[in-house]
Amino acid sequence: MDDGRAGPVALPAWVGLVRHPAHGLTAIDAGLGAGNRAGTAPHFPLNARNLEVPAGATLAELPGGPPARVVVTHVHYDHLGGLPDLPPSTEIWLGAADAATLRTGAAGVPRRLLDGYDVRPLDFGPGRAGRALGRPAVDLFGDGTVWVLDLPGHTPGALGVFVQAADGPWLFVGDTAWVDAHLRGPRRPPAVRLVVDARPREAARSLAWARRFTGCAGLRIVTGHEPAGASWATGGPASGPQSAPAAPESAASGADGS
Ligand SMILES: [Zn+2]
Repeated sequence: MDDGRAGPVALPAWVGLVRHPAHGLTAIDAGLGAGNRAGTAPHFPLNARNLEVPAGATLAELPGGPPARVVVTHVHYDHLGGLPDLPPSTEIWLGAADAATLRTGAAGVPRRLLDGYDVRPLDFGPGRAGRALGRPAVDLFGDGTVWVLDLPGHTPGALGVFVQAADGPWLFVGDTAWVDAHLRGPRRPPAVRLVVDARPREAARSLAWARRFTGCAGLRIVTGHEPAGASWATGGPASGPQSAPAAPESAASGADGS
């Protein structure tokens, strides 16, 4: 990962959980799911091995029930794997360009993955979006608590999510940065960037934008696969009543990959 570490690194596939008093539970990414656990699909062709999905770690296994909606930061297998386990009533929010990618077939992801779901492609074009943190953004609930940000590059329709929670602000950047070190200086090695980033120049601009917020007091930035993510996690999978306007929780299943 070009951050000084060498050899195999265990990377969790993080899922953000935001509970809103009026809109229920929103997941940021779907993580890995039963299909990944069984070794079927979706999977990344080059890295289907060394993947572990512990019991109870998927979205469908949340003790309080599955989320009402999922915001997919980008259409890679480790962010979509939990989707097929969720009921068809689930709202699936994703960038319009990523929705188009899925329809044409993305590596390792079945083309019909979203068939039957309540899919909500997000268009950030002029007149269709507001702005948050200096980026085109959609106010998910219209109350300013959850903003979905246009953050392209890793995939053409990649998203970030900014949450103004009762316990402070959170910024989920997906795989614009795999690990926290990528926010400080190291980046994915050039050859890796060419393979994993659909639009490397846009990805570099999105990463540079995210880096501007690393010094903001109280802001927790959640990268896609930070192994030390437990330092900002506020608890395990969704549990207990939340009185907060929007309260991030977290869950993760493990993957060697991105
Ligand atoms: Zn990933």
